[in-house]
Amino acid sequence: MLYIVATPIGNLKDITFRAIEVLKSVDLIACEDTRHTKILLDHYNISKPTTSYFQHNRLSKGEYLLSLLKEGKDVALVSDAGTPGILDPGFHIINLAIKNNISITVIPGPTAFVNALVVSGKPTHEFFFAGFLPNRTIARRNRLKEFAKEKNTLIFYESCHRIIATLGDISSVYGDIEVVVGRELTKKFEEIIRDKPAKIIEKFKKSPPKGEFVVII
Ligand code: SAM
Repeated sequence: MLYIVATPIGNLKDITFRAIEVLKSVDLIACEDTRHTKILLDHYNISKPTTSYFQHNRLSKGEYLLSLLKEGKDVALVSDAGTPGILDPGFHIINLAIKNNISITVIPGPTAFVNALVVSGKPTHEFFFAGFLPNRTIARRNRLKEFAKEKNTLIFYESCHRIIATLGDISSVYGDIEVVVGRELTKKFEEIIRDKPAKIIEKFKKSPPKGEFVVII
């Protein structure tokens, strides 16, 4: 069985009893970053073999994991945060398992954008999750322009390096609209900011933004 196991997006307590049970029972845990996952495993006294499975080794390591699954081994897939497959490695091994008739199941848990969406106060009945915007300004603005016809709530992931630039682009493409920024959700410095892009930029210029972000429009 391939277990897709969701892990916390910050607060180590945000994990299910079943996720812990599964991580304790499998033969191998495939991690986006073994050092990162070790913190979680140590916290719950889980001592199981781990192996790295990430963007750049996904083809070769995917084949290796598939061979173990074919032998009848149980493998858990975890990412650095949240649900594997949501904008992190996972998609490839999940599809490899499906094509090879390997049993696959998911152990549900947090996903950053779902938590940001529910706490944003923006309509949740229909929404568009757009992942990460392009790094380059022109491409980013063009992508935002493409979304201009989107009537529903729009959600992006963003990093601390680009949040100010992205807010600037949101303002230049969509004007003075209200934006919700979820920062460091579930962590010590969690912040949910509801304001106009220019105001949020002003705040971040005074105190440089750190951590991880979800942007909701
Ligand atoms: N698999 C993850 C999930 O289920 O949400 C997403 C992985 S993606 C590579 C990482 C991005 O998710 C970060 O750059 C950030 O935009 C967002 N993210 C993850 N944890 C977060 C948190 N605690 N607060 C805000 N955003 C977070």
